[in-house]
Amino acid sequence: MQRKVDNRGMREINRAIVLDIIRHSEQISRAELANRSALTKPTVSAIVDDLMRDGTVREVGFAETASNGGRPARLLEFNGQSAAYLGIHFSARGTAVAVADARGVIRAIAEGPSIKGAPMKSMEALEPFLEEALTSANVPRSRLQSVGVSVHGPVEQSTGVCVVSPNLGWHDVPLRDMVKEAFGLPVVVHNEAHAAAVAEGRVGAAAGVASFVWLYSGTGIGSGVVIDGKLFFGFRGFAGEIGHCPVTEDAGRVCACGRRGCLETVASGMAIARAAKQAVAGTEPTVLRAARRPLDAAAVTAAAREGDKVARRILSEVGEHLGKGISYLLNILDPEMIVVAGDPASAGEALFEPLRASVDRHALQPRGVRIVPSILGARAEIIGAVLLAMDHVRGGVRTVSFVSATHPTAEGRVGRDGRLDSRLAVIADR
Ligand SMILES: [Zn+2]
Repeated sequence: MQRKVDNRGMREINRAIVLDIIRHSEQISRAELANRSALTKPTVSAIVDDLMRDGTVREVGFAETASNGGRPARLLEFNGQSAAYLGIHFSARGTAVAVADARGVIRAIAEGPSIKGAPMKSMEALEPFLEEALTSANVPRSRLQSVGVSVHGPVEQSTGVCVVSPNLGWHDVPLRDMVKEAFGLPVVVHNEAHAAAVAEGRVGAAAGVASFVWLYSGTGIGSGVVIDGKLFFGFRGFAGEIGHCPVTEDAGRVCACGRRGCLETVASGMAIARAAKQAVAGTEPTVLRAARRPLDAAAVTAAAREGDKVARRILSEVGEHLGKGISYLLNILDPEMIVVAGDPASAGEALFEPLRASVDRHALQPRGVRIVPSILGARAEIIGAVLLAMDHVRGGVRTVSFVSATHPTAEGRVGRDGRLDSRLAVIADR
């Protein structure tokens, strides 16, 4: 019995290795595939036949020169049109829909407003944006294989229910069932910070990093934890709620969660906006008084970049608090990297210098931990949704990545942990 499982597992792994090499090559012959995968020619041929049958791979002609005097070899290429994936991101800022090709490259993104308090209406409102994205990506709906959803709010993994989203006005929304019902496709639903962590780890600042935390400071504060290349959900799916850990010495302000003194009350975009309003009402000279409205985290970040003292002080305090929060993550998880996302992260050293100093003071062993800004920015959540949709139907990604370590791909991009860095090109902006 064990033996059978092993053989099947081996076949899947070999198939994944071959597919991975084809995906990362422009065009490649069967002989070169056998060479690079270290598999036998008959094994490679059987796998290629299989991949051609289901349309994943196609023949594109012949090599210019024949090796050892024989016939020129037939060349193969990955068929980017063999599948498509849909990503949906529900957030307070709006609803985004992305259509990606078989490689996971996002071909089109369309965005619409979010409808507060009405998840069903938000679903219905999706339709025209989906249509727009499919048309502009030139992808027929029938090509879609799966849907990945990222949402602002904790998601129970076993049920796909978004238990609460204060900013969307949602409570116990059965998102997975709703999306399944609407599309008739396999659906995977994740908290937006979890999805963003997946994206940043695959194609962003943490590519090739085995253990890291993606930390977001925006309307609220959330994080996605990746340990040994795998997203860490926790028991129910609620891991990473660092924003609701108390960090202030006194009782502090009341948080959106109803408690007092949470990190979110002093280091989120809302906290920054509040501090900016206070500063503007005061007497100290600041460019914030003349800054564009709304007077939000982006405005403060811009003023700090111009060297405004008040803006820099606000960000310095935020950095101090975020550093304290990060020190908890460091002490408990010992990650290799912390990726900081959200408006404050674009302030550069005005935020990162006080933040690192705070981490140095509060964490037990802060040395060597890289604390860096996000590369993907506001697109991380939707890119993550697409990647999760892909992973959901392809499955076995981790096994594949592990084994690929002994069979480096064309680029040989294997992470330090032996994980294959299956980098996917992504259109950052339309
Ligand atoms: Zn809270």
